[in-house]
Amino acid sequence: MTGKIIKGIAGFYYVHTVEAGIYECKAKGIFRKNKTKPLVGDNVEIDILDADKKIGNVVKILERKNELVRPSVANIDQAVIIFSIVNPKPNFNLLDRFLATMEYLDIEAVICFNKKDIAPEEDLEYIKNEYGKTKYKIIYTSTKLNEGIDELKEVLYGKTSTVAGPSGVGKSSIINLLQSEIVVQTGEISEKIERGKHTTRHSEIININDNTYIMDTPGFTSFYLDGIEANELRNCFPEFFDYEDKCRFNGCVHVNEPDCGIKAALNNGKISKLRYENYKELYNELKSKKKY
Ligand code: GDP
Ligand code: ZN
Repeated sequence: MTGKIIKGIAGFYYVHTVEAGIYECKAKGIFRKNKTKPLVGDNVEIDILDADKKIGNVVKILERKNELVRPSVANIDQAVIIFSIVNPKPNFNLLDRFLATMEYLDIEAVICFNKKDIAPEEDLEYIKNEYGKTKYKIIYTSTKLNEGIDELKEVLYGKTSTVAGPSGVGKSSIINLLQSEIVVQTGEISEKIERGKHTTRHSEIININDNTYIMDTPGFTSFYLDGIEANELRNCFPEFFDYEDKCRFNGCVHVNEPDCGIKAALNNGKISKLRYENYKELYNELKSKKKY
């Protein structure tokens, strides 16, 4: 049987199988054989030791698509980043930092802007204008009105996604709604246990349905932009690609060079001014880091 490791505690791996739920497994032999430690998110083959008690043994780790270090997790298909439009207002620098990091890691990113119900029209327009010029999928949600949640479910369906966002934006409210089907099944007491679990810091993914999993990623950590070179950062802003061939210089980083296609597109309103300003700020940050 194959399944996905959703949690690992003290030598036990909890493997979710679509056919038969969660098996408690050890991973005897795997370490010795190929020196690989199973990770949360790994797709694995298990031998069933006791079908009634749901006990098994992980016998094979299937090939990993990717592997994140912090949080430690394998096979992430996409990253959902949640901000609220107001209360608190989005930190766009943090958003662009996150998006650039996901580009660097080659993980598709989806942006969720929550609290649509209390958002002033002008704030919504501003976001639509700036981020509408990117290729990112944007979902506007309200947990109060239950709006946009179905659209979010659709985007998550069949994939394993990390869900991140600064505190106060409504991440827990959204995750509770995504889990609504499970909560209905298991009743209020387990709902409380689930909530309590969200405060723990070890990696764990949650099965939403069939092959759909999310990982509630606590807060933001400083790993973002780790490993990116200043002159590689331009490759982490995909909307630049369409205009790069208009740059006079090969290897133009679009900051101080003359005849820059990106700056021309910026002046024509094709590229978001907000995004470009954040690009410059992050570029300068990475550039100054290199001197130490
Ligand atoms: P977290 O810190 O990101 O997990 O956010 P919570 O889910 O705990 O929500 C923070 C606050 O925002 C709570 O008071 C929620 O009731 C409120 N909230 C969450 N979603 C919405 C929304 O869509 N609209 C409004 N108006 N408030 C929301
Ligand atoms: Zn340029």
